[in-house]
Amino acid sequence: MSKVYFASARVKKWKYNESMPGKLERLLEKINLSQYFEADEWVAIKTHFGSEGAHRIVRPVFLRKVTDALKAMQAKPFVTDTVRIKGLDYLEVANQNGINHLSVGAPVVIADGLYGNDNIMVKAGDILGEIAVASLIYDVPAMIVCSHVKGHINAGYAGAIKNLAMGGVSGSHRHCGWKCGRGSMHVIGEGNFIWDEKRCALCYQCEEVCPLDCIKFDNEKFTYEDERCWRCGRCTRVCPEGALVMTEANDEMFMKSLAEAAKTVINTFKPNKILYINFLTEIQPECDCMPAADVPIMQDIGILISDDIVSVEQASIDLLLKTKPLASSLAEDEGIKEGDDIILKLHGKNYFIQIEESEKLGMGSRKYELIDIL
Ligand code: SF4
Ligand code: SF4
Repeated sequence: MSKVYFASARVKKWKYNESMPGKLERLLEKINLSQYFEADEWVAIKTHFGSEGAHRIVRPVFLRKVTDALKAMQAKPFVTDTVRIKGLDYLEVANQNGINHLSVGAPVVIADGLYGNDNIMVKAGDILGEIAVASLIYDVPAMIVCSHVKGHINAGYAGAIKNLAMGGVSGSHRHCGWKCGRGSMHVIGEGNFIWDEKRCALCYQCEEVCPLDCIKFDNEKFTYEDERCWRCGRCTRVCPEGALVMTEANDEMFMKSLAEAAKTVINTFKPNKILYINFLTEIQPECDCMPAADVPIMQDIGILISDDIVSVEQASIDLLLKTKPLASSLAEDEGIKEGDDIILKLHGKNYFIQIEESEKLGMGSRKYELIDIL
């Protein structure tokens, strides 16, 4: 049974050790980094830089604690993510959200190059075939996956599996485009849009939310660039009128493909070279790639660390399930009550599929021992 170490977000004594940064330091000591990493070894800290407007990410202070702990054992950490917008702009987003060399104490670099096409096709599995893994993640020998737990358009729940799958893979490949990148997970094929002109209120939120500027309204008619659109589903998610629907979107296949892609990324590492830290903080309804972050739907819970991706995800979900919805949040707007599965009610997705599939693929175990460091 895998061990998952947990530190609660609650502070009950007014000492540094009781603070979240202090507790993260204690978690890193507890897991014993020297079991996984070596002096002079390059270690990627994979996180999500957020978006301009989506500020609820893993806070730089926590990334700093991770890099400090690695540097204390003479390892060579750097903080990284794959691009969702142009690379230079994405580094600026990171900077704006507080992630830069000075704040996190290590270089901040793009894993798949400034153009997002520095990647390597790696054999995946039955669903994806091959997929474009970011070359830096492919090459680096060790990694700590720092994931901000929150909701997600297609997966319902987003934690370490989503961070590694969507974030370890490029948006597109130099030759085969988005269909070899993370877009292939979104629709497993070529989903198309149905736009209902009668329902459309011409609010243009779909146009604004598109990270690739694929959508245009010419003479008040919806159009999109089929070849460039990677089917992320953001535009359909934000449409307040239900006027925009994507055909062939298949949540079950999406979640299974997430598990497959995460496994593909993990397989580029030797055993025992990846740790997972899940931050159950500022748990908002949507992914950090959206252009805004809503208020949290539940209170901060804490931080979890493990070397088993399935265990850390299962433990995170078990904690989410015990948490009450917050007042004045989308959870309250949706009439979600104490005892409800908040994520399920908000997104209507059976998000467990990604965890079950990951276990089936041999990535880890849903049985775990939770060790509260108190
Ligand atoms: S799915 Fe929508 S938001 Fe995403 S890239 Fe395509 S047009 Fe843009
Ligand atoms: S978000 Fe929906 S209602 Fe608004 S412009 Fe787009 S399709 Fe129309």
